[in-house]
Amino acid sequence: MQIANDMAVLIHYTLTNDAGEVLDSSAGDEPLAYIHGQGDIVEGLEKALVGKAAGDKLSVKVSAEEGYGPRDKSKVQTVPRAAFEDGVEIVTGMRFQARGPEGMVIVTVTGVTGDDVTIDANHPLAGESLNFAIEIVQVRACTKEELEHGHIHGAGGHHH
Ligand code: ZN
Repeated sequence: MQIANDMAVLIHYTLTNDAGEVLDSSAGDEPLAYIHGQGDIVEGLEKALVGKAAGDKLSVKVSAEEGYGPRDKSKVQTVPRAAFEDGVEIVTGMRFQARGPEGMVIVTVTGVTGDDVTIDANHPLAGESLNFAIEIVQVRACTKEELEHGHIHGAGGHHH
């Protein structure tokens, strides 16, 4: 069976940046299970997997545009320390959830100077090209229930 829209796909993946650092990997864990064609994985990777079958191994380089998007300077802001909850120590590298115009976003503290805190609401991988090493574990038709729920059941997916 080949990967096409509405297929259940299980993959093992390792994601590295251009410096060769491993950013994320399913190695030693359950494979990632997703429904193909509904944007569950980054666009460039989804495109590259079309037509592949179980057992296939491939390397995929995804540009920032087809990955987590370009970095947007307008998402970097300086806010007063008083904007944060009392009693929380704010340090560079902290991440927290915040409500933005497009829903919940992950915000990273990128600098603290006196009472000024610089925050960045870009995805941590925005502007980066992504290098995926992929091994396709299984390709099968989704069950009717999985399509209704919009996610895969069983290994690598939802257990409920
Ligand atoms: Zn479900």
